[in-house]
Amino acid sequence: MKYKRCPRCGLNYILQDQQLCSVCIDELTGKKSIFDDENFGELLCPYCEKNPIEIDDIMCAECRAKRFKKDSNI
Ligand SMILES: [Zn+2]
Ligand SMILES: [Zn+2]
Repeated sequence: MKYKRCPRCGLNYILQDQQLCSVCIDELTGKKSIFDDENFGELLCPYCEKNPIEIDDIMCAECRAKRFKKDSNI
Protein backbone atom coordinates (compact mmCIF):
# COMPACT_ATOMS: atom_id res chain seq x y z
CA MET A 1 0.00 0.00 0.00
CA LYS A 2 1.20 3.48 -0.83
CA TYR A 3 1.14 6.38 1.58
CA LYS A 4 1.09 10.13 1.10
CA ARG A 5 1.03 13.12 3.40
CA CYS A 6 -2.31 14.59 4.39
CA PRO A 7 -2.75 17.67 2.15
CA ARG A 8 -4.44 19.69 4.92
CA CYS A 9 -2.12 19.37 7.91
CA GLY A 10 0.92 18.01 6.10
CA LEU A 11 1.82 16.04 9.22
CA ASN A 12 0.08 12.70 9.10
CA TYR A 13 0.48 9.98 6.52
CA ILE A 14 -2.60 8.57 4.87
CA LEU A 15 -3.33 5.95 2.27
CA GLN A 16 -3.00 7.05 -1.35
CA ASP A 17 -6.76 6.79 -1.91
CA GLN A 18 -7.72 8.77 1.20
CA GLN A 19 -8.50 12.49 1.11
CA LEU A 20 -7.53 13.53 4.64
CA CYS A 21 -6.07 12.07 7.82
CA SER A 22 -8.36 11.14 10.70
CA VAL A 23 -7.32 14.21 12.69
CA CYS A 24 -8.38 16.56 9.89
CA ILE A 25 -11.59 14.61 9.29
CA ASP A 26 -12.46 14.92 12.99
CA GLU A 27 -11.80 18.67 12.88
CA LEU A 28 -13.89 19.18 9.77
CA THR A 29 -16.79 17.14 11.13
CA GLY A 30 -16.82 19.20 14.33
CA LYS A 31 -15.40 16.59 16.66
CA LYS A 32 -13.09 17.90 19.31
CA SER A 33 -9.46 17.50 18.48
CA ILE A 34 -6.97 16.60 21.16
CA PHE A 35 -4.60 19.00 19.43
CA ASP A 36 -6.93 21.97 19.76
CA ASP A 37 -6.23 23.45 23.18
CA GLU A 38 -8.59 26.39 22.65
CA ASN A 39 -11.59 24.10 23.05
CA PHE A 40 -10.70 23.63 26.68
CA GLY A 41 -11.51 27.28 27.43
CA GLU A 42 -15.26 26.67 27.17
CA LEU A 43 -15.82 23.87 29.67
CA LEU A 44 -19.16 23.80 31.43
CA CYS A 45 -19.93 22.40 34.85
CA PRO A 46 -21.22 18.82 34.30
CA TYR A 47 -23.67 19.11 37.22
CA CYS A 48 -25.63 22.27 36.41
CA GLU A 49 -24.39 22.61 32.80
CA LYS A 50 -24.58 26.40 32.92
CA ASN A 51 -21.55 27.70 34.76
CA PRO A 52 -18.09 27.67 33.17
CA ILE A 53 -15.33 25.80 35.00
CA GLU A 54 -11.58 25.46 34.72
CA ILE A 55 -10.19 22.26 33.27
CA ASP A 56 -8.90 21.24 36.71
CA ASP A 57 -12.28 21.79 38.38
CA ILE A 58 -14.74 18.94 38.90
CA MET A 59 -17.69 21.30 39.30
CA CYS A 60 -18.47 25.01 39.48
CA ALA A 61 -18.29 27.00 42.71
CA GLU A 62 -22.09 27.09 42.96
CA CYS A 63 -22.43 23.31 42.79
CA ARG A 64 -19.51 22.87 45.14
CA ALA A 65 -21.23 25.12 47.68
CA LYS A 66 -24.51 23.24 47.24
CA ARG A 67 -22.84 19.89 47.67
CA PHE A 68 -20.94 21.05 50.75
CA LYS A 69 -24.14 22.39 52.28
CA LYS A 70 -25.99 19.14 51.52
CA ASP A 71 -23.22 16.99 52.99
CA SER A 72 -23.10 19.02 56.17
CA ASN A 73 -26.85 18.58 56.67
CA ILE A 74 -26.64 14.80 56.83
ZN1 LIG B 1 -4.39 16.00 8.25
ZN1 LIG C 1 -22.44 23.77 38.46
